[in-house]
Amino acid sequence: MNKESIYGLTLDQLTVWLGEHGHRKFRAAQVWEWLYRKRVTAFSDMTDVHPACIAVLEEHFDISTLSEHVKQESADGTIKFLFRLADGNLIETVLMTHKFGLSVCVTTQVGCNIGCSFCASGLLPKSRDLTGGEIVEQIMKVQLHLDQEGRGGKVSHVVVMGIGEPFDNFRNLSDFLRIIKDHKGLAIGARHITVSTSGLADKIIEFTDSDLQVNLAVSLHAPNNGLRTQIMKINRAIPIEKLMQAIQYYWDKTNRRITLEYILLKDVNDQREHALQLAELIGANRQLANVNLIPYNPVDEHSQYQRSEQESIRAFYDTLKKQGVSVSVRLEHGTDIDAACGQLRSKQIKEDQAV
Ligand code: SAH
Ligand code: SF4
Repeated sequence: MNKESIYGLTLDQLTVWLGEHGHRKFRAAQVWEWLYRKRVTAFSDMTDVHPACIAVLEEHFDISTLSEHVKQESADGTIKFLFRLADGNLIETVLMTHKFGLSVCVTTQVGCNIGCSFCASGLLPKSRDLTGGEIVEQIMKVQLHLDQEGRGGKVSHVVVMGIGEPFDNFRNLSDFLRIIKDHKGLAIGARHITVSTSGLADKIIEFTDSDLQVNLAVSLHAPNNGLRTQIMKINRAIPIEKLMQAIQYYWDKTNRRITLEYILLKDVNDQREHALQLAELIGANRQLANVNLIPYNPVDEHSQYQRSEQESIRAFYDTLKKQGVSVSVRLEHGTDIDAACGQLRSKQIKEDQAV
């Protein structure tokens, strides 16, 4: 049987666990340092940890539960990793190089049940949630890759925008966030971490009430219910009014900015009227919203959608700007390497099935 990943424990949980197995508190901090600062890949390399403690850790945990299946490097330096989980499932992780640092995009579920009509990840229903350890290990595998490169690269930013709906795996997501933020470990700043949700309103409220403090992005993609339901069927259960109520709760309680993601699909949601409706929806909260326009990455299975023309993107941007809405266009990374969310995985699965 596969052992649990050691990366799934917060420092507090590791302290309690070691205590229950007869080891003193300070051992947890030592082990933590070996894992996240010195980044060893075997318990036996933790040379100042008592052998009895190493033995009990080896008995119950693994350090490595993901194996690299494919690694694609783009001309712009973006690297896409396809990892195989211990149960054979494949997941994607992406490393992007920005002016402001190195950011990693992580996967939270195997497949996705939200099934948005434009997305490659939703092509396969969710077969399971990733454990907290499997999400943390994606960052560690990328960090180990950077360590091997020997240029001192350090993962500084994290976006939870890979395969899956993070708020449909809330507990493991929370553990993951606590672990990567821990000052004694990777110490990735809360303001450098962004979680993207398709708009699970109840979970937005739970997130607001938590002490997680990371940035929130919501995939809006349409300014009215008719269009949003057509693009994202989740809108039938959670219509825009309900979503905006949850967002309002977040704004009222935190006074923090939210990113509203908006994929531009040619002749579907990219007209001037849509930009005007979007500005109206944001209403008086213009200071607290940033619309992030996402040029669509075409997916073979969703041939009904095309990317908006450059002029339409420009015009949509200008209309929002004129309405006083803060807006940006997402820079693209690795378009030459199946960059759309879930694309590499779905291609690989098809290829594997063809053999
Ligand atoms: N499930 C979450 C997070 C993962 S998707 C969510 O939907 O927010 C992360 C972002 O990538 C979302 O905004 C999603 O709409 C977008 N996305 C999905 N497929 C895409 C594609 N083919 N091209 C561009 N963006 C895409
Ligand atoms: Fe799932 Fe997000 Fe893709 Fe929708 S866009 S199917 S929520 S991963």
